[in-house]
Amino acid sequence: MIKKLAISALVLLLAACGEQQAASSFEGGAAVAEQKSFEWKLVTTWPKNYPGLGMAPENFARLVDRMSQGRLKVKVYGAGQMVPALEVFDAVSQGTAEMGHGAAYYWKGKTPASVFFTSVPFGLNAQEMNSWLYHGGGMELWRETYEPFNLVPFAGGNSGVQMAGWFNREINSLEDLQGLKMRIPGIGGEVITRAGGEAVTIPGGELYTAMQTGVIDATEWVGPYNDLAFGFHQVAKYYYYPGWHETGSTLELIINKDAWESLPDDLQAMVEAAARTVNQDMLDEYTARNNAALVQLVDEHGVQLRRLPDDVLVKLKTITAEVLDELVANNPLALKTRDSLQAFQAQVTDYHEISEEAYYRARRLETESTVQP
Ligand code: CA
Repeated sequence: MIKKLAISALVLLLAACGEQQAASSFEGGAAVAEQKSFEWKLVTTWPKNYPGLGMAPENFARLVDRMSQGRLKVKVYGAGQMVPALEVFDAVSQGTAEMGHGAAYYWKGKTPASVFFTSVPFGLNAQEMNSWLYHGGGMELWRETYEPFNLVPFAGGNSGVQMAGWFNREINSLEDLQGLKMRIPGIGGEVITRAGGEAVTIPGGELYTAMQTGVIDATEWVGPYNDLAFGFHQVAKYYYYPGWHETGSTLELIINKDAWESLPDDLQAMVEAAARTVNQDMLDEYTARNNAALVQLVDEHGVQLRRLPDDVLVKLKTITAEVLDELVANNPLALKTRDSLQAFQAQVTDYHEISEEAYYRARRLETESTVQP
């Protein structure tokens, strides 16, 4: 009996020592190394707290703050607060800010392949875009594209299919595109110019005035929820669909590579998880809010909703193929990216014809009327 008690006491004593050792080595090792905290600046191409697009960086900052228990603090600056909207890429590349939020196709002049990481005309929808990025090789190509700029990219939101835009003239034929001065970025802009119009790039915050003063005849922006917030219905009469030029636009979160590499592994994982969360959340919010905003635009503000004619769409699609061929002609990375995206689109389209598309059609079918006996 005494022997048994003595052994039990010894076992307990050893167990206690073991726990103490484990606790002290935890405090002395990993825990101390993880205490380093970071304060980052995040610059955006949107006005501060702008609904939809501008909420992604705000939500990202809140998420990483909570997940890291304050070890990674991110302060969000709206366009013009620290750097102008279209200088976000350079500011993060040079380390003026550690992070940025915007859209890759704004940087077409720096690296042509960038357009494929936002959206190209007649391209992937939001669901397909996320699939290409996360499971189809897209993210790897995006990282390769931004590597020379000392940037690490993440998807940071998706608008879904956009609207074709706001017009102060009706578009009934290709003739109506002649001389049309339109704010439309990326490849869509090139296509409009070749179709006889004139594409210009103007940051979102300046668009309302540009429409109001007649500097431009038309502008695309996002979709009903965002466009209502900007008040475009006060300066344009016609609202056209579908958004042939932006079919599921991905927004980007970019991180200065040195800043990224300075983060310990757990904070990097939190950044990745937070980016993925805000990427999906933006699409969810647009899906929830777009139709209510459209109803308000049409019913309360008298906006004229119009569909672009098929012959105009066919022409725009034809020109898109030419523009993309030229874009990738002298740029191996853009060529590789275009080919990856197009191969992905071909195979995903085959299946989506008999899944998503067939289901949309099935959902629209009328139910049979109840036959009275
Ligand atoms: Ca747009």
